[in-house]
Amino acid sequence: MKYPINEMYETIQGEGFYAGQPSIFIRIQGCPIRCSWCDTKHTWKLLNENQVEPKNIINKKKSTKNWAFLNTFEIIYFIKKYNWKAKHIVITGGEPCVFNLKILTKELEKKGYSCQIETSGTHTIYCSKKTWVTVSPKITIGKKIVNSAIFRANEIKYAILNNSDVIKLKIFLKSMKKNIRSKLIFLQPINQDKKATDLCIKLCLINNWRLSIQIQKYLVIP
Ligand code: SF4
Repeated sequence: MKYPINEMYETIQGEGFYAGQPSIFIRIQGCPIRCSWCDTKHTWKLLNENQVEPKNIINKKKSTKNWAFLNTFEIIYFIKKYNWKAKHIVITGGEPCVFNLKILTKELEKKGYSCQIETSGTHTIYCSKKTWVTVSPKITIGKKIVNSAIFRANEIKYAILNNSDVIKLKIFLKSMKKNIRSKLIFLQPINQDKKATDLCIKLCLINNWRLSIQIQKYLVIP
């Protein structure tokens, strides 16, 4: 199976449970969700005219709509070729779960990598059993979350801008009942907004949830 890859690079994971972890990011092109606050809008459309050679999507200097088709073994080939030292792979997007990621995650694990998927939870998730799944539900824009995605999630990372997001989050958590009980819940302020950050801190303290501040945005790293 070939995946349309927007970019691959090594950096520090800046969000959620694995914040601070050296990681290789594999960003998949294409997302049908269209969140207004999305910071990767260039990944939304998968257009033939933007297809490029695989070497052009490694260590991109700036974000572009360009993408290349790579299969699992080509992905592993490039990871080795660039001699990246990180042992954690983050498969993100776009919406990576549009694709079946089982073979990709299993083969990466066979090579000694741990895998993480970042998804909106709007698609069924196909991946290895060991893969760490981060679901960022887009309930504020009315997208239906697949129950099985929440069941499979290891962490729920929820973007907050204001109180109306908090109300929607509480309704969502209530509706998920026992599916949500064992999950780590991270609140992530949208766009480093000061009010949103203060609100997240307050809510984390009240509910014993965790704060995710997008370290990469403060450090200005990819
Ligand atoms: S699901 Fe993710 S990639 Fe897709 S629009 Fe929303 S934030 Fe952007």
